[in-house]
Amino acid sequence: MPIYEFRCKNCGVVVEKICRIDEEPPLCPTCRAEMVRCFSTFSFKSSNVSEREKRVLNLAAGYLRDGKVEDAHRFLKKAAQHVKTDTVKKAADKLSAKLEG
Ligand SMILES: [Zn+2]
Repeated sequence: MPIYEFRCKNCGVVVEKICRIDEEPPLCPTCRAEMVRCFSTFSFKSSNVSEREKRVLNLAAGYLRDGKVEDAHRFLKKAAQHVKTDTVKKAADKLSAKLEG
């Protein structure tokens, strides 16, 4: 089953949970508020490298479009562990530099 990442709408805590694609998001373990699905790490393993890379970069670009730079950074760092390509690594490094600088 896929591993999904969920983020609390209220306090922002992030948890990973193995669940079915149609399963309801869990409640926040900290404040019991509703959580939203962020992404699935499983899906990175199911397609070929260039597709995975494209998917990662698209998702990161989506975060950036919404102004969620830290989310994009966190996501890219994590994705880089699953999609070990130069492009993903460079994108993660670039955001690291941006956030630290
Ligand atoms: Zn919460």
